[in-house]
Amino acid sequence: MQFEDVVGQQELKKHFISEIQSGNIAHARLLHGKSGHGTLPLALSFVGFLFCDQRTESDSCGVCPSCIKVNKLQHPDLHFSFPTVQTDANKSSLLLDKWREQVKESPYFAELDWLRKIDPKERNMIISVHESQDIIKKLSLKAYEGGYKAMIIWLPESMNIQAANKLLKILEEPTPKTIFILVAESHETILRTIISRPTGIILRQWMFLKIKKILW
Ligand SMILES: [Zn+2]
Repeated sequence: MQFEDVVGQQELKKHFISEIQSGNIAHARLLHGKSGHGTLPLALSFVGFLFCDQRTESDSCGVCPSCIKVNKLQHPDLHFSFPTVQTDANKSSLLLDKWREQVKESPYFAELDWLRKIDPKERNMIISVHESQDIIKKLSLKAYEGGYKAMIIWLPESMNIQAANKLLKILEEPTPKTIFILVAESHETILRTIISRPTGIILRQWMFLKIKKILW
């Protein structure tokens, strides 16, 4: 996905572009807003621009091998974590095909769309401690292609307390060249637990981006 594919949000796009071009990239960012406002597409286009081999001044090229892999959600250094129902052994990695299908259908999908796709019974979804372990394991590996590793966590407010606690250390002190993008819809308590720890200098590396509406 390229920036030009994302509706509006010109200010944020400019911000992301200059951040990446400067090389001074925050290790974690929270994109907070409704799904229809393009938070996930923005996260994907950010990663596309970061990973692109032939980026222009204003966008990723869309055609280099990295862009093609990001577009297919099959780049080995782009990881995803999202809520699942408890019966799915609580791991995103088991549902990646469905995830790709959902994003391909529309990257502006909402929580309920996802729930209906993975569970016709529409049971509760969470991000569990097993998922947190999986995230840590994935990010402990070196970047496959030698650049950055990116972890997009969709709806981090779905974490239970054990999952959040497990992730705090790596969120505060990630391995080098690791970027977290949290794509959140609501300000649940758990989210405040994750982002409001008194972490001094590290906290300043967080970037909070509240997306209220589509800005043209
Ligand atoms: Zn490219």
